[in-house]
Amino acid sequence: MSPLPPRSSRLTAFFRLGVAERRRRLLELADLPADGFAAVDPGALSIEAADGMIENVLGTYALPFAVAVNFIVDDIETLIPMAIEEPSVVAASSNAARMARPRGFVTEVSAPVMIGQIQVVHVADVDDGAARLVAASEELLAEARRLVPRLAERGGGPVGFDVRTLAHSGPDGGVLVAHLHVDCRDAMGANLVNTLCEALADRVAELAGGRPGLRILSNLTDGRTVTVRCSIDDAQLASHDAEGAEVRRAIAAASRFAELDPYRACTHNKGIMNGVDAVLVATGQDWRAVEAGAHAYAARDGAYRPLAVWRERDGGLDGVLVMPLAVGTVGGALHVHPGARLALELAGARSADRLAALCGAAGIATNLAALRALATEGIQRGHMALHARGLARAAGATGDLVELVAAELAATGEVKADRAREVLARLMGEPR
Ligand code: NAD
Repeated sequence: MSPLPPRSSRLTAFFRLGVAERRRRLLELADLPADGFAAVDPGALSIEAADGMIENVLGTYALPFAVAVNFIVDDIETLIPMAIEEPSVVAASSNAARMARPRGFVTEVSAPVMIGQIQVVHVADVDDGAARLVAASEELLAEARRLVPRLAERGGGPVGFDVRTLAHSGPDGGVLVAHLHVDCRDAMGANLVNTLCEALADRVAELAGGRPGLRILSNLTDGRTVTVRCSIDDAQLASHDAEGAEVRRAIAAASRFAELDPYRACTHNKGIMNGVDAVLVATGQDWRAVEAGAHAYAARDGAYRPLAVWRERDGGLDGVLVMPLAVGTVGGALHVHPGARLALELAGARSADRLAALCGAAGIATNLAALRALATEGIQRGHMALHARGLARAAGATGDLVELVAAELAATGEVKADRAREVLARLMGEPR
């Protein structure tokens, strides 16, 4: 299958169609083969395939599989596949993607460099051990490259080696950790990196003058990041209850709240992961790895921070998301999971770079949608309170009766003139 990117991902009222009609429209649009959606029919992942994937299999476990529409990512009209149990993530991201048009989302994806850690414990002299490892880094890198010739042919392979001192003494003696940086191209790379770390560990420990400890990748993939930007005009931010400029100000304020407070930043980032995880699950990725990396990255300077921030500009709002995103379009579960393969086809993601860009775009879209909903709700509540006071006064309330009537109207949600008169009459009849 080699589908073309969809002619346009702008699908109005797609949600109103039935499943069969949605499928028909997408088959046309994305040039998928006629049986394309069989891969997400119930039972498409066979029991035999599932039994080969994990242990003690009893069955398969389904989630709704959907597509978020309206996305433009790096000037390409894009359909974003999502698998998720939570309502409104697909709708919210499609809505935010519509607001971001026609510029859409602009991404920068770093080289796909993963970190492998080789721990060395009981190092007799950590300073000397670290210096010897640094001096041998070219030798170690050359050895690592010899172990993955095919990856090197694809333009990837080991690209860096450095050493960190973790302890001079303690229960594990002197502790060093060597980091092997590996460009994994289109693979997520965990197995690849682990294999390299295993192979180099004895030599590294010998050079450092200690004993080999753990050898495994780090999921804090701060060398493998995605940056996604979008710029939304006030007109797009406006809702029927709130002006665009008001919504813009409220979203920027919500971003500052997340920048100041880890309790808020956590929920802000959860909103980002709503979109990111939905794409990761649909495309068969190790979402635990990305989750672990995202939160460690959010806390990398000692305080937990939002992964995306929003700033006001003249007439609009600019957002930027930066997060680590280790994903693969080869390896992992992809060779067995038909739904994951369909998801990649639907998204037109033929490289890990592109898949990472789409995950990031989905993440900033769900963040924007959540902040806008919170902002307009707050604005709406403010408007309602003002409106309720106005109605109370119009009904004849004065003094503290204004607040009493307005509070009751707001509490019941019935912010109406006749209700204001009723409440006022009742309160005036009550002894005070
Ligand atoms: P993998 O083991 O399937 O290896 C990918 C293979 O794809 C490589 O051997 C490579 O030779 C081949 N390949 C083909 N085309 C390629 C291309 N264009 N670019 C790069 N490689 C190409 O997969 P992996 O990505 O090494 O490991 C991912 C798996 O490891 C996931 O299933 C993950 O859940 C699991 N895992 C994760 C952790 C962790 O995150 N801590 C730990 C262990 C295992």
